[in-house]
Amino acid sequence: MIRDNIEKVQKNIKQSCRTAGRAETEVTLIAVSKTKPVPMLMDAYECGCRHFGENKVQELVAKYEVMPKDIHWHMIGHLQRNKVKYIIDKVSLIHSVDSMRLAEEISREASKRGIEVSVLIEVNAAEEESKYGVSVQETLPLIQEIASLPGIHIKGLMTIAPYVENSEENRPYFKIMQQLAVDISRKNIDNVSMNILSMGMTGDYMTAVEEGATCVRVGTGIFGERQYDV
Ligand SMILES: *Cc1c(COP(=O)(O)O)cnc(C)c1O
Repeated sequence: MIRDNIEKVQKNIKQSCRTAGRAETEVTLIAVSKTKPVPMLMDAYECGCRHFGENKVQELVAKYEVMPKDIHWHMIGHLQRNKVKYIIDKVSLIHSVDSMRLAEEISREASKRGIEVSVLIEVNAAEEESKYGVSVQETLPLIQEIASLPGIHIKGLMTIAPYVENSEENRPYFKIMQQLAVDISRKNIDNVSMNILSMGMTGDYMTAVEEGATCVRVGTGIFGERQYDV
């Protein structure tokens, strides 16, 4: 099942790249494995997946410990400052930086260990009340502030678009994100690049790729529906 799902997602990404005149090598598929057991992740690994996304620190660490070491782990969920120390040396990319205080904590822990940490700024493009992330207007000022911190490198932007039935409804937000990344990269801020645009989930990744996503985060579309204990 997982193999078929991955093949289908990859085919769709390829199709969207073709539609947009992009090279498919520009897009990284992140398998969002939250709540799923290790054997399912291993199935995805056997199919070639090397990028996994988790949204909880404890779960990411537990899976990191037992999974092969050539995996790139992506922290895609809200990150509390007191938990930065547990994942900082395990993740390839933190997608969810949305405050100076969190960036300072990452910088402090990175410097302590003599490592460099790559992050994305999470933008609440649709300005939903329930979501983390900074507004479009706050993004550049926050980036300018974070840019001067040691040990932390901003590599781009991330957004979680609203849950919608029809992915076309999210196209305007993906366009806003793409434009924001272009505007910020034109500022040529030291220590800041806008090479990564993390957007698109199971319901809307094709639209996101058409609008310039370089990372798509697909969970349900690979592993099936998630069951949460109640
Ligand atoms: C759960 C999650 C995803 C994947 O969602 P699906 O709809 O299952 O593909 C992507 N991004 C973030 C930040 C998530 O928390």
